[in-house]
Amino acid sequence: MISIPVASELILPEIRTRQCRFPTINDGRETALPSPLYHSSATGIDISPHSQFPIPNSQFPINKMNFLLVTDLDNTLVGDDKATQVLNQRLQPVRSQICLIYATGRSHASTRELIAQKQLLTPDYLIAGVGSEIYQDGSIDLDWAQYLSQDWDKMAIASLAQQFPQLKPQSLKEQNPWKISYCLEPTLENSSTIQALQQQLTASGLAAQIIFSSNRDLDILPQTSNKGNALTYLQKRLQIPSEATLVCGDSGNDISMFQQDVRGVIVANALSELLEWHREYGTENHYLAGSACASGIMEGMAYFWDF
Ligand SMILES: [Mg+2]
Repeated sequence: MISIPVASELILPEIRTRQCRFPTINDGRETALPSPLYHSSATGIDISPHSQFPIPNSQFPINKMNFLLVTDLDNTLVGDDKATQVLNQRLQPVRSQICLIYATGRSHASTRELIAQKQLLTPDYLIAGVGSEIYQDGSIDLDWAQYLSQDWDKMAIASLAQQFPQLKPQSLKEQNPWKISYCLEPTLENSSTIQALQQQLTASGLAAQIIFSSNRDLDILPQTSNKGNALTYLQKRLQIPSEATLVCGDSGNDISMFQQDVRGVIVANALSELLEWHREYGTENHYLAGSACASGIMEGMAYFWDF
């Protein structure tokens, strides 16, 4: 049985992180976002992990922590209830050292329901709606909201998307001012829909990106909105180094997290869209777990952090 490290063992620089060369984004493929999972219209906005984020404000107090654990919820932290509870128990004694962030495609309200239903730990931050909103203690981060509002014309984009009847709007609770969400059946006749929609957006001069994940969810978001950019915004604010930042995910909308200056664990039950990305772009900073869901997270924490 793996022993739970005491808090003093987790204080930097005593952390025994793996010393990996860090080549990921700067290996000449920083803009090589996988198609068709992640499209951006050509408006010249830098959405790379090195783009300029808003200067973190003083809206919220910053609690200094040494580690950053960012995890997707559905089929990553959540999916195996027993494993989730084991991870909870292991995190509890060192909770003050680890900043916990949930990064999900769910809305704020839906996430709160899941946290209660599955008895998840209360996160320090919540990245909701595929990076379109950041919350701390139930309050939205206004700097992030303002940042995403630049060059974002939700009404015009929604109007354009109506030309595609195969796009079925998701429920109102999954929509927010910076996210328009649809369901798209992955049929042969719908296979060109994403490309056609992207072409229409570009031709209309509308800055937006399309993220398709879980073979079903199609989100239209501001170009700068994704889980990865949101986590880097928080990582910079918290001043937590790359080797102490671990992201965990299972699907296409997690890819942007793995593209950041971080360590990453892909759980064993990951969907083919993420596994294909890993085959093409994975580096030694990306760990393919042999275990599913929360057990995979623990495996990744042991791999990178000896936790
Ligand atoms: Mg997921």
